[in-house]
Amino acid sequence: MPRLSERQQYLRQRLKSTAIATKAIRSGTQAGVEQEHNDAIYATSSFIYGSAAEAAACFSGETEGNIYSRFTNPTVRTFEQRMAAMEGGERAVAASSGMAALTSIFLGHLKQGDHIVSSCSIFGSIVGLFDNILAKLGITTTYVSPSDINAWQAAIKPHTKVLFLESPSNPLGEVGDILALSKLAHSHGALLVVDNCFCTPVLQSPLALGADIVMHSATKYLDGQGRCVGGVAIGSEVLMEPIFSFLRTAGTTMSPFNAWVFINGLETLSLRMQAHCQSALALAQWLENQPQVEKVYYTGLPSHAQHQLAQQQQRGFGGVVSFEIKGDKGAAWRCIDSTQLLSITGNFGDAKSTITHPATTTHGKMTPQARELAGIKDNLIRVSVGLEDYQDIKDDLAQALSTL
Ligand SMILES: *Cc1c(COP(=O)(O)O)cnc(C)c1O
Repeated sequence: MPRLSERQQYLRQRLKSTAIATKAIRSGTQAGVEQEHNDAIYATSSFIYGSAAEAAACFSGETEGNIYSRFTNPTVRTFEQRMAAMEGGERAVAASSGMAALTSIFLGHLKQGDHIVSSCSIFGSIVGLFDNILAKLGITTTYVSPSDINAWQAAIKPHTKVLFLESPSNPLGEVGDILALSKLAHSHGALLVVDNCFCTPVLQSPLALGADIVMHSATKYLDGQGRCVGGVAIGSEVLMEPIFSFLRTAGTTMSPFNAWVFINGLETLSLRMQAHCQSALALAQWLENQPQVEKVYYTGLPSHAQHQLAQQQQRGFGGVVSFEIKGDKGAAWRCIDSTQLLSITGNFGDAKSTITHPATTTHGKMTPQARELAGIKDNLIRVSVGLEDYQDIKDDLAQALSTL
């Protein structure tokens, strides 16, 4: 591995005490080893050694070094070190997608007979992972309402090993109490795993609140421009090792190119999140006063059921606003179809504002009963507020609402 110059070593030390915006731009970088200013993409599957003895030492783990890009790669390592610094964890493990990160977390840590207590308001594919894949291996899951701490407690069994929370949730912004859940998990010898996609490390630090593992779909805000699919888990060295061990064997590895895109995406994350939050709050406040709107879901509004808790554990409320219109599914579709600027897509966290009808897209696979239980009504619309000028986003929604 290239030796760090004195200047680089000084920077590494200094970064431990800098603000998150600085960490997002400077930490983990390998740049400067040659003379480049930006991180290079290490587009290589394998690595060479000066001698057979050097190769043997590296393969045996006696010396540190790269062997094969399914295991480690310098560009991927930069992304991992940057994410670890931003989340305040010892180590991060990057994966080929958010789902690959989750699969690696659960299969790295759990075995047959183990039990998960999970929030019922989680990303749809994770329900598929729990109910179709982990269930087949004898790992069972009980679902509870994220904000009902008594329900979490009641669902815990002697063999419960993980509590899983997404907070705030999609699309209604339900908030789980990370500090309380971490205490509950630890009093039963279980781990708290938190999906931090909606806040990003800029707005919420689950590890500092007591969570054991944080995960992200890098596909969303970390990229920020909807270019690549990726994921990452962050936590202590001890908790990351089994995840890495699973990943290097299962091959759920992040590609160096994607890591490079995410490294560059992270450089603007702090500024982007500030802008997303500002426009989303303004839009939520405006929507609350529109005659065609029945109810607005945004944790930044005092009308949100968990506004106070969100204010306590988050540093901002994020860029996703959902609202119910006065009308049925047909009216919701008409409103969506009448937008001209917003993109009709289920993705979020992009510079481009997006609009979607959760009941028939992101949550379309749920049974109508499960959807009703989750509070996802046919008149619900979700907007991921992007980085276009706020006035233009609002004007587009205003003309769409006027068709109702
Ligand atoms: C998208 C998403 C995931 C899954 O990530 P992929 O990169 O699509 O595999 C997990 N959790 C949340 C909250 C998401 O939005």
